[in-house]
Amino acid sequence: MIIPIRCFSCGKVIADLYERYVELIGTPMDAEGNTMPDGDAMDELGLNRYCCRRMILTHVDLIEKLLRYNPAERDIIKVAQRG
Ligand SMILES: [Zn+2]
Repeated sequence: MIIPIRCFSCGKVIADLYERYVELIGTPMDAEGNTMPDGDAMDELGLNRYCCRRMILTHVDLIEKLLRYNPAERDIIKVAQRG
């Protein structure tokens, strides 16, 4: 959901690196539009331990999706279908 502030295993602060990581793997590096491999991006950010690398690599950013969640949406749809 939200990137954890610290690595669960070693305690290194990693939350500040996530945006830069996404930027590095998302922006094309050359004319062909190739982006930086995940491993190289993590090396550049100084994430050397595999515990910290898994935190960044396996994170799924769902907060934007969750913010759009409306618990009353089902009720609104039900009412619309009835009447
Ligand atoms: Zn770690």
